[in-house]
Amino acid sequence: MYLQVLEELAARWAAVAVAVSVHGLSCFPLATFGTPAQQQRWLVPALAGEQVGAYSLSEPQAGSDAAALTCRAEKTADGYRVTGTKAWITHGGVADFYALFARTGEGSRGVSCLLAPGRADGLSFGRPEQKMGLHAVPTTTAHWDGVTLDGDRLLGAEGQGLPIAFAALDSGRLGIAAVATGLAQSALDVAVAYAQERTAFGKKIIDHQGLGFLLADMAAAVDAARATYLDAARRRDAGRPYGRQASVAKLTATDAAMKVTTDAVQVLGGYGYTRDFPVERFMREAKVMQIFEGTNQIQRLVIARSLAKG
Ligand SMILES: Cc1cc2nc3c(=O)[nH]c(=O)nc-3n(C[C@H](O)[C@H](O)[C@H](O)COP(=O)(O)OP(=O)(O)OC[C@H]3O[C@@H](n4cnc5c(N)ncnc54)[C@H](O)[C@@H]3O)c2cc1C
Repeated sequence: MYLQVLEELAARWAAVAVAVSVHGLSCFPLATFGTPAQQQRWLVPALAGEQVGAYSLSEPQAGSDAAALTCRAEKTADGYRVTGTKAWITHGGVADFYALFARTGEGSRGVSCLLAPGRADGLSFGRPEQKMGLHAVPTTTAHWDGVTLDGDRLLGAEGQGLPIAFAALDSGRLGIAAVATGLAQSALDVAVAYAQERTAFGKKIIDHQGLGFLLADMAAAVDAARATYLDAARRRDAGRPYGRQASVAKLTATDAAMKVTTDAVQVLGGYGYTRDFPVERFMREAKVMQIFEGTNQIQRLVIARSLAKG
């Protein structure tokens, strides 16, 4: 039901839906690995909508290869001192808390997850990135310059950070798949409405078979996208493994959104290329969905690895 709500939000404004989905992603470590005391203190206001969260895994030199992250959380007498630079943070600078992944040791088992506050001495943010789309949501770098955090801000065990990060992304990818589906549905709706109005060569353009087939392929892509995220979500609700299905859904739905929004611009002809119609915005918003929460190359890697495991 949550995913269907995201789909509906995205059909109106993808940036709002992405913001809700990223908030859910940032709550995942606390909701899944936090102690009852941590959840009482931080999850309750987050779920009540009083606080907005951000998820901070990526770094300037470590995106797809998350295990290459270098931000450090050095142990102190009563907690941690965090030093390093994180990148690409949706809600950066405006979030009330950060699910922050930082190094407490070496190698892939040397990363931990900390629930960091949004404001602290030594914490500063870069200017918002000048993005192609999703302008309503800020994306920034964050500089942690010896920020001290209490020990009770550790989520899960020390060294468990990457498994927590990847579990959160499995769940988050369902959100992005639903958002991409809503965006694609909206583009299809605008294209169909336009094709029923516009005439060329004496008939409505939807009645030209070449264009009708384009619309048919767009509709098939939207339906397929929706089916994949619902399939993964049902597996998740049933308590079954769903990582591979989440990657299939993210890959299918975001590729569908890119294709359908691009084709919607085509259906509208020259008008599609202007800001008088929303389809050019849809196309710019679709592009990033093939990139964040694991690029679509990384989704293929996840699927291929699960096939290799048998
Ligand atoms: C608008 C926006 C919002 C974002 N929000 C967040 C956020 O809230 N939190 C967060 O932590 N991150 C966020 N990100 C970061 C995003 O997750 C990364 O950009 C993404 O994971 C890719 O990392 P990268 O940009 O470093 O590209 P790279 O990892 O450098 O990849 C470059 C290219 O190489 C390909 N590639 C890399 N490795 C392989 C491989 N093994 N096989 C095949 N191809 C490969 C990639 O697919 C890509 O095409 C956001 C990014 C954007 C653009």
